[in-house]
Amino acid sequence: MGHNVEQGRPPRVRFAPSPSGYLHIGGARTALFNWLWARKLGGQFLIRIEDTDAERSSMESVKAILDGLTWLGLDWDEGPGVGGPHEPYFQSERKDLYRREVERLIAEGKAYRCYCTKEELDAQREALKAKDPKAQFVYPGTCRDKPDRPDLPHAVRFKSPKDGVTAFEDKVFGTISTPNAQQQDFVLIRPNGLPLYNTAAVIDDHVMGITLVARGRDHIGNTPQQVLLYEALGYPLPEFAHLPMMLSPKGEKLSKRHAAVSVMEYKEKGYTPMGVLNYLARFGWSFGDQEIFSRKELIEKFDWERVNKSDGKFDDKKFADVAFEHLKNPELTDDDTYVRGVLPELVARGIDSPSEERVRAALPLIRERARDLKDAAHHLDFYFRSPPVMDEKALRLLTPEVAPRLVELAARVEASPEFTTSSLEQLFTAEVERTGLKMKDLAQPVRVALSGRTASPGLYDVMIVLGKAESCLRLRAAAELAERQS
Ligand code: GLU
Repeated sequence: MGHNVEQGRPPRVRFAPSPSGYLHIGGARTALFNWLWARKLGGQFLIRIEDTDAERSSMESVKAILDGLTWLGLDWDEGPGVGGPHEPYFQSERKDLYRREVERLIAEGKAYRCYCTKEELDAQREALKAKDPKAQFVYPGTCRDKPDRPDLPHAVRFKSPKDGVTAFEDKVFGTISTPNAQQQDFVLIRPNGLPLYNTAAVIDDHVMGITLVARGRDHIGNTPQQVLLYEALGYPLPEFAHLPMMLSPKGEKLSKRHAAVSVMEYKEKGYTPMGVLNYLARFGWSFGDQEIFSRKELIEKFDWERVNKSDGKFDDKKFADVAFEHLKNPELTDDDTYVRGVLPELVARGIDSPSEERVRAALPLIRERARDLKDAAHHLDFYFRSPPVMDEKALRLLTPEVAPRLVELAARVEASPEFTTSSLEQLFTAEVERTGLKMKDLAQPVRVALSGRTASPGLYDVMIVLGKAESCLRLRAAAELAERQS
């Protein structure tokens, strides 16, 4: 079964995206598990860009993926932008290495050049299909024993063993053994000189000193071929861990038809990075019935033993709940992080340079209410807009008879030497007694005057955040508006 890379050293793990789009949440989950493992054991987390498919790869997409990882706070020790001892970290710049290693296999009789043209192979495939539509074409080894002619156009194929089994230990799925009879002489290098994924991944994982390869279960079928390659190349085997898939609620492969699948869409929704990481961590991994974890706890508690074998179904409601749990808890999202997150959302609502201090002062009033940072900006909006935007239902409460109540109250607030929640409470109570009004008939117009809304946090708290002058200004402005309603 091959001997494993020396154990007991801090792990070197990697995330190896193909840059053909944004950072998918499934990819982010793979990156997260690798990152957690490296951070837990003081190892290294590498990023390697698998961009040998020039047509599907773009620098724009490399940037999108790296931006996604950066936003999530999954920092890497080696890779693009950071450098490291195994530069370059782009496979498109490592072709000479793959070529050299594959030539070595040819020289050792473990691989061979194949001169079959695409047309010939297609014809064979068609002929088989005509006989048996369900049959899988297997390359018959046509060129296995032909003389070596590097000067002719060729692909390079691996000389797969025909008997025995190839087995590896997966940290999640246990022992996986595959009869070698199932392997065909798979392609290592295409006629255009480009390596296949298996070839480049194995060579890089070895050269880069990767001790544990963790990736989606969709790659588990590639692993036997990779194990054969490790053995043929004389490389020690790394450990392997395959992660269960993220499926749609109906059990299909998760795509943008079902949900937001780009990590950055969650940023746009106003989720915090930790809200996203927490949901992703619980996707395929569990720790008793604990649902909510801080970054530190995830690092402490993560291990491969608790990764599930079974695929999971994406649940956007649960995702939103987890994101909310993070946002509302000051131990998970501290005030600084919250303020930094919500300021741009306020700016996006057209509020010019919102005061950081005022956001900070209002935070305790919205912690329990705002489900995400966008929602938080919605709850904070009126603190920064004078006069506040009046919603229709609120406006209807500003009838002419409330105008004098608001004016009177403003005068009393202004005249009061104190401006605290308890002094305000006393003042409101006294005003209710003096006028014989019900508290709600005083409080609701005041709420509308201050917030433009019929629901808000406690009035006295709101007034404290707004300050005395601004509160009085709003009471008087609303009174004027009320007088004009008829
Ligand atoms: N480039 C492959 C992918 O994006 C990486 C697979 C691996 O981690 O080996 O799926």
